[in-house]
This record gives sequence, structure tokens and C-alpha cells, in this order.
Amino acid sequence: MGPGPSNPYPEVMLALARPVVGHLDPEFLALLDETNDRLRLAFGTSNALTLPISGTGSAGMEAAFVNFVRTGDPVVIGVNGVFGERMCEVAARCGADVVRVDAPWGTPLTPSALLEAHPAPSIIALVHAETSTGVRNDITPLGAEKGDALLLVDMVTSLGGIEVAVDEWGVDVAYSGTQKCLGVPPGLAPLTVSDAARARLVERPSSWYLDLNLLSRYVDGGTEGGRVYHHTAPVTMVAALHAGLGVVIEEGFAAAHARHAECGQLLRDGLEQLGLELFAEATHRLPQLTTVRVPATGPAGRTEADCRRLLLERFGIEIGAGAGQLAGQVWRIGCMGHTARRRNVVTLLGALAEVLGR
Ligand SMILES: *Cc1c(COP(=O)(O)O)cnc(C)c1O
Repeated sequence: MGPGPSNPYPEVMLALARPVVGHLDPEFLALLDETNDRLRLAFGTSNALTLPISGTGSAGMEAAFVNFVRTGDPVVIGVNGVFGERMCEVAARCGADVVRVDAPWGTPLTPSALLEAHPAPSIIALVHAETSTGVRNDITPLGAEKGDALLLVDMVTSLGGIEVAVDEWGVDVAYSGTQKCLGVPPGLAPLTVSDAARARLVERPSSWYLDLNLLSRYVDGGTEGGRVYHHTAPVTMVAALHAGLGVVIEEGFAAAHARHAECGQLLRDGLEQLGLELFAEATHRLPQLTTVRVPATGPAGRTEADCRRLLLERFGIEIGAGAGQLAGQVWRIGCMGHTARRRNVVTLLGALAEVLGR
């Protein structure tokens, strides 16, 4: 749910308004170190190589593949939505031999199908929270059975909204974004890499900007005789991420997850009471992203795009259109980060009833 009845965390707004310091200023470097510590807490990891990549979630995806894929590597990728498809495209551009494992959109991936897709994949990759379908994919069975493969997981929409446990689940490479459940403006992609994966970094990836060998010297420099400049860190965005993580840490991750869960339940119940049909399989629904089928009947002449436009114009609430093969068929209602509040859900449900004439 977009602007309107809920403001971003004041702490984040204040961080965005702070005086801008230099990207090598000791004050900023201390803030970066602390941000990385907070990211370790959020990801549930002790990985030394944990940092915010400069760029949105997609930059995290690029960094995750370009640093670990060598030409011809068999890479198994689970696809049950737009972001799994994007992974295939990114991996292919890095030279991977992509072994694609599909599941119908709206249903979760089958872990055994991913594990059996290739005898010796170099990477098994999947999206934890498919934002295009509202489906959560199971990670734990893959971590336990991955063998020599690296387990690479997109946590863009899961981090901060539902439980993630990188170390406990045996995840080797994970990335996220700031503007989903962390409630921070878009612009950074938190990334974490296990020590085992770090030992398998591509020595000279085709992207210079996202080269983790170079980036780690900037992030880790403190232990190796000083940091080496790589590119200018977006200092204001790092400050915003630092502040946003601070808010979630103070609330507690378990409490934040419970808040998302409660809002998701309230939203699903309310949508069903309006006579709408939920889309994602009941056992694997994301609380932070609810997909619902566009109803066949509404007020005469009102299209699904009209409904979304009216929600925005009249109530300041933005819901998402269907993406990819679900275009025109579902609405995607995000209830993430600072917007995951009961009052927002109640407002949306009332607004939707009016727009649909129910
Ligand atoms: C939003 C999203 C991305 C891409 O992030 P951007 O910030 O839009 O670049 C990747 N994966 C998932 C699951 C997402 O929801």
C-alpha cells in the first residue's frame, strides 16, 4: 500500500535529511560498519562479506550471479514468477547453462525437483518471496541437501517481513532490497556471502562495478591495512538504511514478522468477506504481498485499471497490477515495512468495497 495514511519511519526521514559527509570520512565508515552489522542481524548470519550493493534489488541479483557464474556452469533456477524468470535472464547473460525448473504461478517450487534437476549444479537459485505471485518458496530443504552447489536466494521481499535465517538454512549467497519490508527508500541491495562461497568468487567478473573482490577491499579494509577506494558509496542511502534497520531492530525481528503476519491475515479475511478470491496457494501465502483475483463483475464500465486509479486518487492507496503472465488477472496488495499497520488494511478494505460497489 502506497502513500496516504502512513508515513515512512521518522528516523529514516531524518537520516535522509542529515548533512552529507564524505564517503571516506571516518564518521561515514563507522556508519557503514554498523550498517553491515545490522544487516548481519537481519539476514541471520555471521558472514564477514555482508554489505549494501549500490543499486536497487536487481543490482543485488546481478552481483549474486556475476560473481559466482563461470561460462558453462550448470545453474539450476526455480521459476514460479517474474523474479525467477529474471534470475534466468541474468544468469544466462553471465554465461550460465541455465537449468530451469518451473512450477505453476501461484504455487510454491518443489524442493526435490530443484535438487534432482541436475547431478552436479554449481548453483541452485530461487526467490524466497515471489512478489509477482505472493508465494513463499521453501528454502530449508535445499540448504540441507544442496551438496557442493552454492545456494543462492533472492530475499528482496522477505527480509524484514518474514523469517530469514541465512546461516541456519545453509544459504550461501543472499541479496535483498531496501524498499520492500525494510521500509527504506529504494537504492541499495543488501548482500551477504558465506565464507564457502567467498572462496569460489569469480576472479575477474565481467562487471567491474559489482566485482566483490574489489568491493570487499573497500568494506573489509579495516583489517587489511586500510580501505581501498572503489566507487563513491551513496552515503545518504546508507544512512537511511542504517536508520531503517535500527527501527526494525528496536521493534525486534520477531515482532516485525508478527506485525506483517497479523496484517496479512486481516487483509485476506477482509478480501474474502468482500467476496474476492485469493490467488496464492493457501499453505505458502506471503503476509506482506497478497494476490487476489480481479473480480469478474464490478460497477458497470469500471476496468481493473480504473479501480486501481480510483484507490490512488480517492484514498491515496496504491495497489499493484498483475505482473507477467498474471497481467490483468490479479491485484497485488503489498503490506510491507512501515505500511504493515492494521489501520492501513482497514482503510484499504473500506476503500476497495466502495470502488467495487460491494
Ligand atoms: C522488487 C524485487 C526485485 C527487484 O528489485 P528492484 O529494487 O526493483 O531492482 C527482485 N526480486 C524480488 C523478489 C523483488 O520483489
